[in-house]
Amino acid sequence: MPDQIYWNPVLETLPQEKICQLQLKKFKKIFKWAYDRSKFHRKIYDQAGVKPEDIRSFEDIRRVPSVEKSMMRDIQRKDPFPYGDALCVPLEEVSVFRQTSGTTGQPVYQPDTWQDWEWWAECWSFILWAQGYRPKDRVFIPFGYNIFVAFWAGHYAAEKIGCEVIPGGVLDTKARILKIQELQATAMMGTPTYILGMAETAQMKMKIDPSELTIDKITCAGECGASIPSTKRRLEKAWGAKVYDHAGATEIGAWSFECQDQPGGLHVNDAMFLVEIADVETGEIIEEPGRRGKMIITALDRQAQPCVRFDSKDVIEWSSDPCSCGRTSRLIKGGVVGRADDITKVKGVLLAPSAIEEVVHGVDGLGDEYEVIVDRVGHTDRIKLKVEVLPEAQDQCQLVECELADQLRLKTNLRYDIEICGCETLPRYEVKAKRFKDLRKKSETE
Ligand SMILES: [Zn+2]
Repeated sequence: MPDQIYWNPVLETLPQEKICQLQLKKFKKIFKWAYDRSKFHRKIYDQAGVKPEDIRSFEDIRRVPSVEKSMMRDIQRKDPFPYGDALCVPLEEVSVFRQTSGTTGQPVYQPDTWQDWEWWAECWSFILWAQGYRPKDRVFIPFGYNIFVAFWAGHYAAEKIGCEVIPGGVLDTKARILKIQELQATAMMGTPTYILGMAETAQMKMKIDPSELTIDKITCAGECGASIPSTKRRLEKAWGAKVYDHAGATEIGAWSFECQDQPGGLHVNDAMFLVEIADVETGEIIEEPGRRGKMIITALDRQAQPCVRFDSKDVIEWSSDPCSCGRTSRLIKGGVVGRADDITKVKGVLLAPSAIEEVVHGVDGLGDEYEVIVDRVGHTDRIKLKVEVLPEAQDQCQLVECELADQLRLKTNLRYDIEICGCETLPRYEVKAKRFKDLRKKSETE
């Protein structure tokens, strides 16, 4: 078993037409499940005039209305407590509670049954196996285990695979680094921001070179950093390890992963999920590679609170190339490139926050942290970018700033007010970073 390339050799090498047949079959089943068992789902489907027996093809699936996060929030504020009419199993079958960790708005509650929880672990097993996790690995999870799903499911999948798992929950960053050193951990999981921050703490405060520790692979999730080439390079250099991306969400599941071949994108686990890409303006489903849209996703096997055509607002595009690893599942190019909500027009130009990160992390002499503040003076948009210059580059501040300004103009077509801040003065984050602030949105809603 440890020599096996794929976690599930059958599903991961299934020809595309067979995958499509499987997806259609599973979609019919989960749609009927939601229709029959949840008043919330039945109401929106009845309003759209779609019934379970109408689903015969992928064209029919597109007639099924999508569900947005705000709809889930509303239904959960109504009876029956605490999940409203979206729950599809008796309350006593719910075995675990989680909630969404988004940076805006009220959280959505996420009930799962024991069967759902096993499904979470199975989905994560595809990810970890594809990233080279094997029973001999000792996996350290430097994360405050709490009400959010991250990295609980990764933890259980690592156990399921047969790895030895060290839960690094309530330890502080220094204690975590010492534990990795003491136990010679070989792998870990975390947000890219925190994993970079750990490396900084090790180097600057503990005089430990993280690349000399025994970590040889890192799974990043929660932010798109590990799919941003310059951020990935920084992570891999700091830790002397392979860094892999994974995108998932509480209300969806663990739907995608980067494999060991690092193909510049993420595999969709399309035996377990149906991913569709919709044009942000028109809603038209995009089939061809190279055209960005927002992801509409169905978790094909999740039961307690189904995720059927969920409008995730993640911006993705199909890749045209198959992956050299031999998995037949489709790839999304460059991972999740942003959120439909975050990609905003500044001075009439479309700006994705990930584009700024790509530039900042590509300039030598700059620290890992940065902050972007967009506001409006009179009728003109202004972007302020705060960065830190590393101690070893302090005497070349002007050069670094010029390089940064040039690269930003080249890659994003915009001008920025750059502010050089002192070392370690910008905020550090343990979970998801909040580095992009659009003050125009605030003034519009006030
Ligand atoms: Zn691959």
